Amino acid sequence: MPLLPAADNRAPSQAAAPDRATLEGWDDAHLWHPFTPGSVYRDEEPLLIAAAEGNYLIDTEGQRYLDGVASLWCNLFGHRHPAIDAAILAQLGRIAHSTLLGNANVPAVELARQLIEIAPAGLSRVFFSDDGSTAVEVALKMALQYWQQVDSGAGVRRRKFLTLGNAYHGDTVGAVSLGGIDLFHARYGPLLFETLRSASPYCYRCPLGLERSSCDIDCFTALERLALSQADSIAAIVLEGGVQGAAGMIVMPEGFLRRARDLADRIGALLIVDEVATGFGRSGEMFVSQELRPDLLCLAKGLTGGYLPMAATLTTEAIYSAFLGRPEQGRTFYHGHTYTGNALGAAAALATLELLRADDLLPTVRARIVRLTSELNRLKHYRVVGDIRQFGLAAGIELVQDRSSRAPFPAADRNGMRVCRAARRKGVFLRPLGDTIVLMPPLSVTDAEIVSLVDAVAAGLEEITE
Ligand code: PMP
Repeated sequence: MPLLPAADNRAPSQAAAPDRATLEGWDDAHLWHPFTPGSVYRDEEPLLIAAAEGNYLIDTEGQRYLDGVASLWCNLFGHRHPAIDAAILAQLGRIAHSTLLGNANVPAVELARQLIEIAPAGLSRVFFSDDGSTAVEVALKMALQYWQQVDSGAGVRRRKFLTLGNAYHGDTVGAVSLGGIDLFHARYGPLLFETLRSASPYCYRCPLGLERSSCDIDCFTALERLALSQADSIAAIVLEGGVQGAAGMIVMPEGFLRRARDLADRIGALLIVDEVATGFGRSGEMFVSQELRPDLLCLAKGLTGGYLPMAATLTTEAIYSAFLGRPEQGRTFYHGHTYTGNALGAAAALATLELLRADDLLPTVRARIVRLTSELNRLKHYRVVGDIRQFGLAAGIELVQDRSSRAPFPAADRNGMRVCRAARRKGVFLRPLGDTIVLMPPLSVTDAEIVSLVDAVAAGLEEITE
């Protein structure tokens, strides 16, 4: 009598798949979806994805949808890319996972080396974790411990993190502490540590969350004032890579990051740049912070081409060496997740980096960015389009009742979702951020697909304008 039931040896495609209705029943009975109000989930006609091909998701009925948000901003080269598939399969034939705690594995070592080759100058060390949030947690803990170990006086003083209104750095408690989006973050206040941040209300464009008038004057000034007023107590300034994605694609003013780098130097603090959403080509450059000399750089999402959860926090030799000493001195960085440095993830990432290194990749992305700009222009005349914000191969289209008043729609109308559902009927999968429609296709999107993407949004705009 075997101890375990015999495995089903049939290939997955031959195994009898439960039908759609059964799966939907199980979904409704057991699955709790992230960032999703359960009470309206089913009514909003969610997709049930069974497969994919290139830039298209395929549902259980064989319907194809252009993946207009790159599976939450992480897919770079489409689904089932032969090179990434092959790399994972080859790695499976060796080993899927072994711990990185006190040990190494072949693809993780190779990946660390290759990441440093393409990273902004000055970064020489890679700490792996599992997703964008953990990459940020790691950066925060490293910064705090760095100050304690480099100078005990500074270690006592430099404990604060300076962040922006509307910031989003992930959903774990440290990352949420940095966050400035009330809808996502306010409720968890009792769990959070205090940060230095503009407490101003939401405004359209300013990454500081300033009122529009002050934002237009100079939204950097508020950051500077806050930094200078608490200069000695700041461990690090933490910024997203040029655009506040989750806040609705709020693009930072030209030169903002460069000035923040100088500001961090002036107050003697570290600069943490969160390129979880912007890294790996999204801006048309490999990294937004390429010329910025960040002290800590957080990467995730695109790192594995959108295949597997893996993240990296990159840092400098100066920071790394502050963690060296005899083990009993306790300078070690005591952080590490079970799956850190996962070999399958690293293999997927190595294949992804190879695709990213192709000579024609960034020029092609830049051409697509230009195409996206010109297609987005078609949406400007809609009365319900309050603002169109583009950052590289990504855009946020903000819906309002009327452009002249800029009055928002009542949240209960769920107009962002209505537009996305209309787009879905045109064969394009989109997911809004409230009433901001986000377009963030894979880097492999074609010009024709950009046209379809914008056509699908236009269909949705027609529907809510009626
Ligand atoms: N930082 C930024 C800038 C992000 O956009 C996100 C996710 N959208 C995160 C961090 C968190 O990443 P993850 O969801 O992988 O934890």
